Amino acid sequence: MSQELVTFLNARLDEEADLARRCDGDGCGEWTAHGHTVDFGQGELSGFHPTIALHVALHDPARVLREVEAKRRVLARHVLSPAAGDPELPWDNRDDCQFDGETWPCDDLLDLASPYADHPDYPRRA
Ligand SMILES: [Zn+2]
Repeated sequence: MSQELVTFLNARLDEEADLARRCDGDGCGEWTAHGHTVDFGQGELSGFHPTIALHVALHDPARVLREVEAKRRVLARHVLSPAAGDPELPWDNRDDCQFDGETWPCDDLLDLASPYADHPDYPRRA
């Protein structure tokens, strides 16, 4: 799987950030729900079940952009430390995560990727 998972995750985060920006996430105001209505900052839509309206408002583009940036910081911490293959360092015979020392890809990266498991490009373990 090596870096394939990181490439996959960066592509998903790029897509989410691009979509959030296209929803004017950098300045349209906060999305809020009021009963059956979602206020998108530049207009309102009604007819939602109140729980669905809350769920839609939760995907406020500015919040999505903050979440994407937080996930990018996690990705930046959990980088591959490739096996050196040095026989003098028997503990260094496997690829691992530079941040936590777990076998690559570490559980944090797998957790970041898990929401996209149904994506056609999701990297499958060999
Ligand atoms: Zn890690």
